[in-house]
Amino acid sequence: MHIAVVGSGYVGLVTGACLADFGMDVTCVDKDERKIAMLQRGEVPIYEPGLDALIAKNAKAGRLRFTTDVAEAVQRALVVFIAVGTPPREDGSADLSYVTQVAETIADHLNGYKVVVTKSTVPIGTGQIIERIIRERSGGKFPFSVVSNPEFLREGSAIEDFMRPDRVVIGARDPQAIAIMKDIYAPLYLIETPFVITNVESAELIKYASNAFLATKVTFINEVAVLCERLGADVHHVAKGMGLDRRIGPKFLHPGPGFGGSCFPKDTRALVDIAQQAGYRFAIVEAVVEANERIKARMVEKIRKACGGSVAGQVIGILGLAFKPETDDMRESPAIPIVSELVKDGAKIRAFDPAAMENAKELLPAEVVYCQDAYDAATGADCLVIITEWNQFRSLDLERLAACMAKPLVVDLRNVYEPEKMREAGFAYECVGRAATQLPKG
Ligand code: NAD
Repeated sequence: MHIAVVGSGYVGLVTGACLADFGMDVTCVDKDERKIAMLQRGEVPIYEPGLDALIAKNAKAGRLRFTTDVAEAVQRALVVFIAVGTPPREDGSADLSYVTQVAETIADHLNGYKVVVTKSTVPIGTGQIIERIIRERSGGKFPFSVVSNPEFLREGSAIEDFMRPDRVVIGARDPQAIAIMKDIYAPLYLIETPFVITNVESAELIKYASNAFLATKVTFINEVAVLCERLGADVHHVAKGMGLDRRIGPKFLHPGPGFGGSCFPKDTRALVDIAQQAGYRFAIVEAVVEANERIKARMVEKIRKACGGSVAGQVIGILGLAFKPETDDMRESPAIPIVSELVKDGAKIRAFDPAAMENAKELLPAEVVYCQDAYDAATGADCLVIITEWNQFRSLDLERLAACMAKPLVVDLRNVYEPEKMREAGFAYECVGRAATQLPKG
């Protein structure tokens, strides 16, 4: 089966490479010529573990190719996946212009029955918009079906998530389109992946509702962490006690500097807007959006306080800039407001991230100095702040760290270290939600 994936970013490339690995014949398309030229040379423009090997394997087998020629890819394909960005507009609503552009291009090059699948996260009703654009623009010359197939992969473990998802959601009306989608995902049937077959609107809403729910869970524990600090509790113990309740579950109960990334911030804001358009105030999600901003601001306050009230003139080492480990994605990373505020306050920033520094340069103040590794970032620092919990920051040589810092002060916004161990190693140590000074062992 010939498949075109339009949009070769995090989702499009992973989708294309994984579907090729399922045995499909895949053409990945992007309008970004630089990206496509890199891919054609065998280089992968994003950092995603395992993606380079999967692309190389399937390109070599002749099942995966890259082009900027949307027309040719659409004409060749039976199924066209739309995986372009849906960034937030100023008012929080999702910008659908890339999606509608692709729909127009598909309409212009329709040459037979096609299944048009949205993988992009799109507001409820977008399926109908795409259908109308294609129908009106193509003059009804050929039949086609529109399917919603939202993507739930996480950057950093995207291939595993695509190959072994918790579920596959297919929203469609046309039984032929549903049958084709089931064919595409046949390898997942074999591993007993649950399928949710529903209408387009429900599929579109499943994606937003899932992301908003997860963002709520993260924000909930972040706010519990604030209470822990004020009331002498330890957030890890509280999270464990909560998470063992199977109705709650242990995942997404780890406190931190607020959620970021390419999905949660924009999808929560978009859901607030979608609800407003439907004449409803989605108060919980509105509160999550607001609370997440407060959490990020609290982190700056925490750093200031640890530094004696002001960071002016102080050297601050930053470990981790990406919004999460194992990605180079800087979109809406908490590091952006935190570092920007510290620079505004007059701090001198020395930062290191294993993968995201190139992307960070476009988003962080020009004064930031980028370093070779964690110890380089810590050199001469009055304070070292852990923002992203890359594995390589989990077992730093504490003696070496203390020796290269001007003052042994660590603000750990991901609770990577044990407070007791850090204090024993001679550090002044601040973390999130762990005010309890005396905890029983075990
Ligand atoms: P991205 O910005 O990494 O990639 C989008 C790509 O689309 C870009 O390379 C861009 O050049 C290309 N593009 C835009 N318009 C085009 C056009 N007309 N023709 C061809 N190419 C075009 O975005 P992403 O992170 O892959 O996200 C894509 C969608 O998937 C979004 O709706 C997002 O919400 C959703 N999503 C993302 C993730 C994630 O973790 N990144 C997870 C699930 C869903």
